Amino acid sequence: MRVLIVEDDTALADGLQRTLRQSGYAVDHAPNGELALRACAEEHYDLILLDVGLPGMDGFEVLRALRKRRTTGSILLLTARDMENDRVKGLDLGADDYVTKPFSLPELEARIRALIRRSKSVRSPRMRYGALQIDTVARRADVDGQPLELTPREWGVLEYLLAHAGQVVSKEQMLQALCSWDDSLTYNAFEVYVSRLRAKLQGAGLKIRTVRGFGYIFEDPDASH
Ligand code: CA
Repeated sequence: MRVLIVEDDTALADGLQRTLRQSGYAVDHAPNGELALRACAEEHYDLILLDVGLPGMDGFEVLRALRKRRTTGSILLLTARDMENDRVKGLDLGADDYVTKPFSLPELEARIRALIRRSKSVRSPRMRYGALQIDTVARRADVDGQPLELTPREWGVLEYLLAHAGQVVSKEQMLQALCSWDDSLTYNAFEVYVSRLRAKLQGAGLKIRTVRGFGYIFEDPDASH
């Protein structure tokens, strides 16, 4: 899951970035509307957290421009307190939801999970592959009922592979989907995450096969027979 935070308050943006990264999201930050639109033209974001009160181009203008371009990611507006008109206007312009400042981080994360659940980009929040059961909304995985302990990075890799189960995915595609701009994840480091994840899945009889010189394929155990 890749997230863009559009927020001019640096302290708030930093806090959001840190929290969401700890939860395993790849997060970028744009401090104003112009940079946000540029980022959205170049990358696909599953979710955009959009502050209404931005310098220059405000959040509504950004929202209007994004919906005009048919951006498919969910848009969650960050609005100021006592601005009911803003909330109505934002929803009318095509925002998926809003949170009112000041908000608590657990509240924001709950709203994000609810949006993901609603969004069409996630086929089903709960998936089963052989002995592995995964809930992409609650961000939990278990094997035969035993919780699978995954780092945020491993979680990101697993989620991506499962979303493309049975297809060969290149390392470039995965890095693009899993890394934010200031992430300096090298191919070598990335391979380490994949091999650790592979080791953790071995007990479940699940295979991440290497396609030499290209990438990986997660073999869906139910599709193979
Ligand atoms: Ca602001």
